[in-house]
Amino acid sequence: MTIVSLRDVRKSYPAPRRSADPVAAIDGVDLDVDEGDIFGIIGYSGAGKSTLVRLINALEPVTSGSITVHGTDITTLSEKDLRGVRSGIGMIFQQFNLFNAKTVRGNIDYPLLVAGVAKAERATRVAELLDFVGLSDKGDNYPDQLSGGQKQRVGIARALATSPRILLADEATSALDPETTQDVLGLLRRVNRELGITIIVITHEMEVIQSLATRVAVMEKGRVVELGDTFDVFSEP
Ligand code: ADP
Ligand code: ADP
Repeated sequence: MTIVSLRDVRKSYPAPRRSADPVAAIDGVDLDVDEGDIFGIIGYSGAGKSTLVRLINALEPVTSGSITVHGTDITTLSEKDLRGVRSGIGMIFQQFNLFNAKTVRGNIDYPLLVAGVAKAERATRVAELLDFVGLSDKGDNYPDQLSGGQKQRVGIARALATSPRILLADEATSALDPETTQDVLGLLRRVNRELGITIIVITHEMEVIQSLATRVAVMEKGRVVELGDTFDVFSEP
């Protein structure tokens, strides 16, 4: 079953100068992500990857085309309905984006607090998530007391708090050393296998895609220039 589907999606930004043309950040993209897949999107800087992430998560409107998430075309939804769509999509980031003034527990609890979950239920859920990411002994620590890999584990736990069906990973290992990268990739594999969460991985690192993704789209200048099973795409002459 398809969980995310893009049809002729375009996104342009206003011309940077009066004499220039508008920037076509996404220039006619078609994609289908199957439920349960780990789907990779790879491309050099400026290819349009981050723009695509913002469009899928409805943080920005498309210029044209349609994006369907769980069968709902999100390009026609009201701001109120979009909140529901966003809560079904977890996000993790290159710089982790943790709240430095909150403890690990406070960071993971935050989305539950915002969602209005009762206190006792939140405490149980946070403990379960800490256990899942292997940080049960770090709940009272602050982010700056953690290693990069541990911070990303907190980011993953926070992204999973409200039980999304989709996890978007935007350059999630790009700030980590190779060993820590493998560690985080292992955790993402568990998120996919044990929790059945569909993962979309955006990266410029081919090794990440090769070790994690089942399918891959290669982006260049706002377009998908190659699409297929990871093995096939990277074994072509
Ligand atoms: P990537 O994530 O692959 O590095 P981006 O999606 O950030 O690529 O950028 C794609 C293109 O769109 C680039 O040419 C970039 O300069 C342009 N772009 C991205 N965001 C904006 C914006 N908010 N305003 C204007 N141009 C943008
Ligand atoms: P069950 O099939 O028994 O409902 P789940 O597959 O939901 O079990 O959960 C398996 C394990 O993962 C449990 O320890 C559960 O607490 C934990 N878990 C379930 N959903 C999530 C989630 N979205 N994020 C993190 N941990 C979860």
